[in-house]
Amino acid sequence: MRTLVSDLDAFLQEHRRCGELDTGVENGRVWMTCDGCGAALSPGGDMSNHPDVEYRGCTIEVQSYGSDGDRWRPKAVVAVYDRGAVRLNTVNAPIDRLFETETEADAYSLAMAKKWIDDRV
Ligand SMILES: [Zn+2]
Repeated sequence: MRTLVSDLDAFLQEHRRCGELDTGVENGRVWMTCDGCGAALSPGGDMSNHPDVEYRGCTIEVQSYGSDGDRWRPKAVVAVYDRGAVRLNTVNAPIDRLFETETEADAYSLAMAKKWIDDRV
């Protein structure tokens, strides 16, 4: 599945060695450019069925996944922007935290990611 975070990660891997990478957020959308070769990444908002959430200058992507049959396990990836660089941080829930629906797991993931940001940014 293509998501904003997986695209950012792929762009980082591909261009990390060819030059300086510049990253920013504009109107809730993330862009990234490579000074080395001029490539640019500016994802639209429709590549994931989980819309990315802007929070205190970071981007949260909810990635809850099915686990143990019909249970859902919360997971979120937080993109933190720091002086033109981006760091991706996975935030996982306690191992026993399972939900019966994806919606509940997503809500939990979002709250968990916001708390993670509150604690660190
Ligand atoms: Zn490049």
